[in-house]
Amino acid sequence: MCGSDLHAYSHFIGIPSEEHPLTKRQAPLTLGHEFSGTVTEIGSDVTSLSVGDRVCIEPNIRCGECKECREGNYHLCRNSNAAFIGLADDGGFAEYCVLDEQYCHQIPDHMTLEQAALVEPTAVTYRAVDLAGVKPGDNVLVTGAGPIGLLTVLNARAAGANKIFVSDVSKERLKLANSFEFVKTLNPVEDDVIGEIMSATNGNGVDVALECAGVQPTFDTCLEAIKRTGTVCVVAIFAQNPEINAFASTVKEANIKFSLGYSNIYDRVIHLIASGQVPAEKVVTNKIKLDHIVEEGFELLNDKSQSKILVSSK
Ligand SMILES: [Zn+2]
Ligand SMILES: [Zn+2]
Repeated sequence: MCGSDLHAYSHFIGIPSEEHPLTKRQAPLTLGHEFSGTVTEIGSDVTSLSVGDRVCIEPNIRCGECKECREGNYHLCRNSNAAFIGLADDGGFAEYCVLDEQYCHQIPDHMTLEQAALVEPTAVTYRAVDLAGVKPGDNVLVTGAGPIGLLTVLNARAAGANKIFVSDVSKERLKLANSFEFVKTLNPVEDDVIGEIMSATNGNGVDVALECAGVQPTFDTCLEAIKRTGTVCVVAIFAQNPEINAFASTVKEANIKFSLGYSNIYDRVIHLIASGQVPAEKVVTNKIKLDHIVEEGFELLNDKSQSKILVSSK
């Protein structure tokens, strides 16, 4: 389950109210875009998969024909408008799901289906860390300790980050971040976040800040926390447009980047999780059955002690 599922469930956000141009579908639809499963049947034209293959799903829907798709940036497909299987077409909260083979990636034998269900959010965060240019030895700040923040932390670590700071106003959320021994957690309610970061980085600031909370104060913190010539990469979707302190950004020659989804990295992310380099399963806080998804899933996802909830169809 993902925060987007909750937004779709509670406010219909992301679900087309009119027929989507590519999927030809509209509400009501089956949710679930972070999922894995076993192939039980294939169509006569399918060439890349066989019955019995275990797969994870890359759910970003693309036309394959527009300029962006042809250039390999299918996550920015102009005809898709960020549509996903599980939002603009039937998704994974079901026992069976019919999919085009291009959205299925085979997983290695030693990878569990649970790990495979985490490839999607890990891909989001892998791409953000990559786009932000995190290098071995870099010091990094992640604002927001929700599931995306935590997976960002794990990817930054795999990319070789040295000190990783994580800030969140929720003590519950920081608890899980605290369990990663390479992380220094900071709570702006109690801690001087910028002061702590500066004293731990010889007064320089972090090389990269990844914004995973989506509010003005955390955006400001990122900008303040980076070194001169440092990078802020925005991963969160902002409900309200943040203001940018242009002068402070200029004085630092700050790089401000935005990251959306992923393309062409699933095989890499599957390998990172399967090999243990990105132990994505550490963000799972509960496993439930599909039959109980409302009371134990949607209604619990607002509970800040929960991070990722995994749902199994049986
Ligand atoms: Zn998601
Ligand atoms: Zn396209």
